[in-house]
Amino acid sequence: MSGPVTELRTELTEVADGVYVHLQPDGGWCLSNAGVIAGPEGLVLVDTAATAARAAALREAVDGLGRGPVRVLVNTHHHGDHTHGNGAFGGATVVAHARTRAEMVKNGLALTGVWPDVAWGELSVRLPDLTFTDELTLYRGDREIRLLHLGPAHTNDDVVAWLPEERVLFAGDVAMAGSSPFVLMGSVSGSLAVLARLRALRPRTVVCGHGPVRGPEVLDETEEYLRWIQRVAAEGRAQGLTPLVAAKEAGKGAFSHLTEFERVVGNLHRAYAELDEREAIASGRTVDVAEAFGEMITYNGGSLPTCHA
Ligand SMILES: [Zn+2]
Repeated sequence: MSGPVTELRTELTEVADGVYVHLQPDGGWCLSNAGVIAGPEGLVLVDTAATAARAAALREAVDGLGRGPVRVLVNTHHHGDHTHGNGAFGGATVVAHARTRAEMVKNGLALTGVWPDVAWGELSVRLPDLTFTDELTLYRGDREIRLLHLGPAHTNDDVVAWLPEERVLFAGDVAMAGSSPFVLMGSVSGSLAVLARLRALRPRTVVCGHGPVRGPEVLDETEEYLRWIQRVAAEGRAQGLTPLVAAKEAGKGAFSHLTEFERVVGNLHRAYAELDEREAIASGRTVDVAEAFGEMITYNGGSLPTCHA
């Protein structure tokens, strides 16, 4: 089952004047990044962390900046590694997509059930106070922070935070740095459309939801991987292979450097469903997320991927 608890190692790095990233190496399952944006009267935080101890460490790092309390907390999507720590920032207004709030109501702390051996600590669901559906712009002094929902990608409720002046993009899990993209709960074709729109923003710095700080090339790399997924899906489906068998036969292609490779199975499930839809096959095929996740475990030789939280 899950491995030993990873040492609680984090890094806070400044990527533009008063704009920070709280990194949780190595960015694998459950180890997400947070953004910290300073304003004249406190901070805007983008995402939290999976466990109570990790949320407390984030809080300590943020307090250590000495730039005031977190006034606004943005969740990029509903997943627990980005939202479980919301409760550590009492007093902050929590902002998210309307569907993020709905998913948090529906799922609660379900992620803790996927990895029961993790030391989650005392957690509660702290729901968003303010929701939007397309776009919301925050102003902190002169600083503009644009929150954009550009369509389904990693989930159906992804929001990115874009700082047009600094050209910093907090991409949430729409792009991953070093680990495999993961669109089982979102959309392959939607991701490609969203990536094109993110590229058009011409970011200088891209902070992915997981992994090190990158430049815009990470958007291209994500696109290449997703186009490969579409090709494997089209060929596999034409040959009558299941997504799991197609994944095994395809190997790792040009992407053997990516970690969390079992996500290929979930991604193929999503790609198959999109092909069915496109060809209007009345199969009623939808993706069973739990079944697809089970097949990711099968792909891994029967072991649950390790949540490093
Ligand atoms: Zn996620």
